[in-house]
Parts: sequence; C-alpha cells; structure tokens
Amino acid sequence: MERKKNFFAGPSVLPVEVLEQLRDQMVEYDNKGLSMIEASHRGGLFEDMYDECLALFRELLRVPEDYDLYFLGGGATLQFSMIPMNFLRPDTVADYIKSGSWAGKAASDAEKIGKVNYYYDGSANHFSSLPKASEVKPSKNSSYLYLCSNETIGGIEWQDFPDTGDVPLIADMSSDIFSRPVPVEKFSMIYGGVQKNLGPAGATFIIMKKSLLERQNPNLTSYLDYSTHSKNKGLFNTPPVFSIWGVKLVLDWIKKNGGVEGMHKRAVEKSAIIYDVIDGSSFFRSPVDPTFRSRMNIVFRLPSEDLEKKFVSEATKEGMLGLKGHRSVGGLRSSLYNALPKEDVLYLAQFMKDFERKNG
Ligand code: PMP
Repeated sequence: MERKKNFFAGPSVLPVEVLEQLRDQMVEYDNKGLSMIEASHRGGLFEDMYDECLALFRELLRVPEDYDLYFLGGGATLQFSMIPMNFLRPDTVADYIKSGSWAGKAASDAEKIGKVNYYYDGSANHFSSLPKASEVKPSKNSSYLYLCSNETIGGIEWQDFPDTGDVPLIADMSSDIFSRPVPVEKFSMIYGGVQKNLGPAGATFIIMKKSLLERQNPNLTSYLDYSTHSKNKGLFNTPPVFSIWGVKLVLDWIKKNGGVEGMHKRAVEKSAIIYDVIDGSSFFRSPVDPTFRSRMNIVFRLPSEDLEKKFVSEATKEGMLGLKGHRSVGGLRSSLYNALPKEDVLYLAQFMKDFERKNG
C-alpha cells in the first residue's frame, strides 16, 4: 500500500508500527486467547495494559504524584461543561483567554454555568496573537484561568505559560500534548482529546492536581463530578478501551523515539521546513504573529480563494490529504503531528514551491 501523506487536523496520522501492532493483536492479544477489545475492563488483561499506559504517560510527561491521571469519554468538548460545573463558584468569575475557536467554545459553554471574564479576546485581531505569558495576572476573585495551549483551527500556540499563583490554571492541550515538555506543576488541570498526537479517537486525558478537588461543587451527578473519577482512577464506568490501547502503543513509540524532547525536536524541524517556504515567498502568507506560530497546525493563505481551491485539489491528486483550512475560517492548514514523517513535510514543501512557480 502507498500511504497517503496525512495532514488532517484530527483524527490524524498514527505511527505505522502502532497500526500494525493493533492489526496483529486485534484477534488475539498477547497469546491470551481473546482480543483486548473483548476483555472486561475489570479484568487483568485490560487493567494491566491500562496501568502500564498511565505509568508511561506519567513518566514521559513528568506528571507529579499529586496529580490524578485518567481517561474519560465525551471528547474534549465535554470538558468545556465539566470544568465550569465543577469549579466555577457562584460568587466568582472564571477568566478565559479567548485565543480562537476552541477557547471560545469553552468560554461560551462556561457562560451557561456562571460568570465568565474575557481576560483576553483575540477576535479584534482575528486571533492572530496572544497575550505575553509573563504579563497574565488573573482577576482577584477568579475561580480559575483557562487557556487553550494550541488553537488547532487558528494555528496559534502558547510558547510559555503564565504563572497564576493561587488561581488554578486550566489548559486544553488537545492538539499539542506530547509535542514538547510541559511544566505540569504550573497547571491545576490539563486535558485534551487523544485523537491528534496520542491515538485513535475516543478517550480524553485528564491530568488534575488532587488539591483542585477541594474547590469543587459537591452537588453534581456522578459522571460529571471529577472526584468520582479520581476515586476510581477513571474506571467508574466502561472506559474507551480501544482508544486507550492505541494510546499505550503510541506512548511506547514516543518513548522509543526520544520522549517529549524527541517529539519537540521533530516538531521544531518539521514546522521550520514549512514556515521557511512561507517566509521566503510573497505568494504564501501566514496570518499568525511569528512569536506564537503553532508547530502542530500551520495555517496559511494564498492570494485568492480560487488558488487555494486549486492548491487543495492538486495536492489531493498527489496523495496529500487534509490541507484545506477549517470550514469556519477557510484558507489552508497543514497539521504536522508527531507521527507525520519528515519526508512528507519535505514533499509538501517542494509541492508548495512548485505551485508558486506555476501560479505565482
Ligand atoms: N480543543 C481543541 C484544541 C481541539 O482541537 C478540539 C478538536 N479538534 C477540541 C477541543 C474538541 O475535541 P473533541 O472533538 O474531542 O470534543
């Protein structure tokens, strides 16, 4: 099979060896006479793999012992509701940094639950920039400060993170988790869908400082209450078994390829290849402040929408998928997640140069 060059924003490219391991062990896992996805989540087969997955996740991302780590269902989107339900106290506000579509969706869900303070709203500059991390100071009576570390649609990424003192810092890291080291201690909660850098869609990882639960709303139904999941290490109800198995295999692959430092190096190298083409031309244009450009989702424009359509159509014929920008913003986007081979990025860079030569 000739594999497509996969620039989808998520679900997205996975390491071929992980797909092969899933295939090889789909019918029978580890000579046990059944598949992982046929086994009870209360039995040894799943729980042994799950414990290894959590241990590996903790080791690679350096998640301290006083943080819970588990997976939930419902996508990252369910967290947009659970976070304010659990932590937005009635007599306070929650600070949201509206850096683009995803932080915006989280904030508008929070508005249904309590009082949101738009600490920063990038809509005036079309989400092309971010506040300086060292200057971010949450409101006095803030329940938490919320940010999205990488806006998958806008292609904008925090390069470092604010220090929020006693105010809990909460981050959606769906699209850049495991692409670089993270100072987990700065955060009270980090979460994200796994379907970009970590595995098949289905699971949402939750990293939560245990002490955050002391600030929690005690009147929630069981699934919506984080303390339920904290007490059951994420096994309160049936977990997304297949997705978690995939995550375990991707983590093995990340470990073999240099851990988060290795992934960071790859991300810096791969994104520079495309940004160099953009910066070296007056044909391609990046709408994002260079200080905050994403290494995972590179957003760019051409002089006209017709040319953008032509670009996507010719790229598709050459086996490159997923280069169309999100339907809400248009333009072009190439997602360069961990598992995307560098050769595919070089191929895209050459295609861009050729396209400019023919159409510029
Ligand atoms: N946050 C970010 C940054 C995302 O990119 C996405 C999905 N692309 C979401 C949240 C929503 O994730 P899900 O589809 O898993 O609910």
